[in-house]
Amino acid sequence: MSTDVGAVLPNLEDPQAAPFWKAARHGQLTMQRCLVCNDLRWTPQDTCPSCLSRDYEWEVLSGKGKIYSYCIYYRVLNPAFTDVPYTVVMVELDEGPVIIGRLLNEPAEAAIDERVVCAFTAISDEAALVNFTLDK
Ligand SMILES: [Zn+2]
Repeated sequence: MSTDVGAVLPNLEDPQAAPFWKAARHGQLTMQRCLVCNDLRWTPQDTCPSCLSRDYEWEVLSGKGKIYSYCIYYRVLNPAFTDVPYTVVMVELDEGPVIIGRLLNEPAEAAIDERVVCAFTAISDEAALVNFTLDK
């Protein structure tokens, strides 16, 4: 994967999102779980969109799910991703939330409902992108 890291480096000073990126760097997919209504929050945020509680804890997820939708990029739209074509997938995680990432397999291998697993791509000493590979 060709990357201009500066084009995708997350803000690690953001108190809501930094734990997500740092956990990804250590090979873990995490999300905030509301301590009041038990919902998983995605994307990381200060307040639960279901019950407005500010109480949560970080939970390590399985990193597994299935492709809900996908698209193939044939043109460079971001200097971080110049190795076109590549596939971006919406993954319905086994725990419920839908998350977006790159599918690291060949574009022709993408299909709705295919099982996938997280694959973490380090972009600094403190952060990694959450991507996916087919779970075969
Ligand atoms: Zn809640």
